[in-house]
This record gives sequence, C-alpha cells and structure tokens, in this order.
Amino acid sequence: MARKVIVLGEIRDKALRNVSFEAIAAAKVLANGGEVVGILIGEKAANLASDMIAYGADRVVVAENEKFKHYTPDGYAQALMAVIEEEKPEGIVFGHTSLGKDLSPKIAAKLNAGLVSDVTAIEADGDNITFIRPIYSGKAFEKRVVTEGIMLVTVRPNNIAPLEKNEERTGKVASISVEIKDLRTIVKDVVRKASEGVDLSEAKVIIAGGRGVKSAEGFKPLQELAEVLGGAVGASRGACDAGYCDYSMQIGQTGKVVTPDLYIACGISGAIQHLAGMSNSKVIVAINKDPEANIFKVADYGIVGDLFDVVPMLTEEFKKLKV
Ligand code: FAD
Repeated sequence: MARKVIVLGEIRDKALRNVSFEAIAAAKVLANGGEVVGILIGEKAANLASDMIAYGADRVVVAENEKFKHYTPDGYAQALMAVIEEEKPEGIVFGHTSLGKDLSPKIAAKLNAGLVSDVTAIEADGDNITFIRPIYSGKAFEKRVVTEGIMLVTVRPNNIAPLEKNEERTGKVASISVEIKDLRTIVKDVVRKASEGVDLSEAKVIIAGGRGVKSAEGFKPLQELAEVLGGAVGASRGACDAGYCDYSMQIGQTGKVVTPDLYIACGISGAIQHLAGMSNSKVIVAINKDPEANIFKVADYGIVGDLFDVVPMLTEEFKKLKV
C-alpha cells in the first residue's frame, strides 16, 4: 500500500538542518512508493523548498507567517494541524531534535494517534513497517509496529542516511495561509549560549571532555583537535558540574544524545548516564589514565595515557594527514 507521508523540515540559521533530509529518506520508506510532502514553517521559508525536493520530497507546502520567526509550540502546532487537515497524510516524520521532541507528542495527542520516537532504523517488508529504537539508555533495541492510525515518527539525527542530493529533481511548491489564533507562548529572542561551530547533535566527529580535563582551559587542546577534524566539542556532566564548560555541551542521559561517526572521549570515566548519550556512536576512542576505566568497555580503540600528552599528538598527526 502506498502512503502519503509528510515531513517537517527544521530550519536553523536560515538553512535546513541535516536531520530534515534524513527524515525525508525515512518518509520514503514509510511512503512505500507513495507521495512524500515536505512542510516548511517559518517567517520566510519558501526559498528552502528546493532543498527538500533535491533530497527526495515530491512536493513542498510552505506556511509563512511573521509569527513563525521563532519556534513556538502552539504556533507550529496550529500550522501543522492546518496542513494535516488539508493533506490527510498517513505518516508524519519529524527529526528527534528539541523541536521534534516537543512538537510531535502534541500533534499525536491532537490526532489521537501513537508516536514512535527516537527511531534509529526502519525495516520495510512490503506493507509492513518496523521501527527500531534504543531502549534502556541504549543497552537494547526494540522493534515497534504501528497497527492503526497515522504513523507518527521522530528519527534520531545521524542514523538514517539521506538520499543523494539531486538538484535536477523538480516538484510543486505551494503556500498555505494559516490563521494563527492566540499564541500562549511568544518568543522575543533566542540567545545562543554555546559557541558558534558544528552542531553537537548532528556532528560527525565529537571530541568530548570529562572531569579529567581539569579546567576550562583544559578544553583548549580538545577544541584544537575538533577544529582539525571538523568536529564539535562535547562534555560529560562531571565537566559541566565542575564549571569547566556550559551545560549545552553535556552528553548523556540528561544531556544530548549523539551518534557521530567518531567519538573521542578524553578523561571521561564512562558512567552509565554518560554512555546513554554516546554508546551508539559508530567508532568510539577513549583516552584515560586509568586502564580500568569503564569507558574502555564500550570503546573500539583505547589509549591509556594522559590526555594532555595524547590529544596534542593526535592533533599534530591529523594535521599532517590534511596537508
Ligand atoms: P569522573 O567520573 O570523575 O571521571 C574522570 C576520568 O578522567 C577518570 O576516569 C580519570 O581516570 C580520568 N582522568 C583524570 N585525569 C586524566 C588525564 N590527565 N588524562 C586522561 N584521563 C584522566 N553524566 C553525564 O556525563 N551525562 C549525563 O547526562 C548524566 N546524567 C546523569 C543523571 C543522573 C540522574 C545522575 C545521578 C548522574 C548523571 N551523570 C551524567 C553523572 C554521571 O553519573 C557521572 O558522575 C559523570 O558522567 C562523571 O563524569 P566524568 O566521567 O567526567 O568524571
């Protein structure tokens, strides 16, 4: 059975986040040959429709309004519900981001539908779709099927490969005007706490520091390595609690969940709450003075040593490879 599936494109800094393209790839599987419709909500968003089409959307519906300058749960929910009423989709895909995690359950509740969140893989067998998602802080995976109603799904960034970009693809772009009723939340401004740079939740390479980094200054060698590898810097809660870095960098059960291609843990012991946020990374390298540190149990490569010796050595070697 072919399905119509809509995908919410997520805009940040006037561009679509990568996870939106991964969500389109997921939607294609759900659609089973049916139509994939990209949805853009923003103050100005129509210029991004071609990107959604290039990554596989068949057409795009744009809801523009000055009230969508910043994300608000009720504003976006009103816009998305208007699109859903018009399009009557059989599936809806969001990124498993702060926005997706906030908006998707609201929409599910309004539609009286189920929601499969934090999906890392999708298996399709004809009409049957099985969603795979980590449970118990990433210690196990469960398989879920949706037996009735609209399929609502959030996909974890960096897990489902986007389709290859094809600028030759064409598709219709239509606008929908949404009458926004009273907004209970008004966002006046968004102030960035974290430093500019690669977004942690979408980074392909993450260099993370723990209490072993010993000070804010101690993060410098990690930042240099991240720069050479084009990656982002993350942290354990130990490092955040100690005041070495901002909580926006925290990875783990109560921080961000990340799945980069390469995760380099420096001076992190490997507490279960930290592993919950990074153990699904594709390749894990651990640098720790203590050969018994728990982090070595999940690491693909372990380096027993002082991070202040090892990290600058790695930076130098990677620099040579880049030349
Ligand atoms: P430590 O456990 O102190 O480890 C420091 C490591 O650095 C040690 O292994 C040491 O051998 C090594 N080291 C020291 N100096 C060097 C050096 N020069 N070179 C190399 N290695 C060195 N933690 C998270 O990270 N994320 C979370 O989201 C999170 N959520 C939590 C939620 C709850 C409800 C609770 C109770 C805890 C949570 N924690 C979380 C905290 C977690 O339990 C640990 O306390 C924390 O992860 C420890 O941080 P750490 O590994 O940096 O510090």
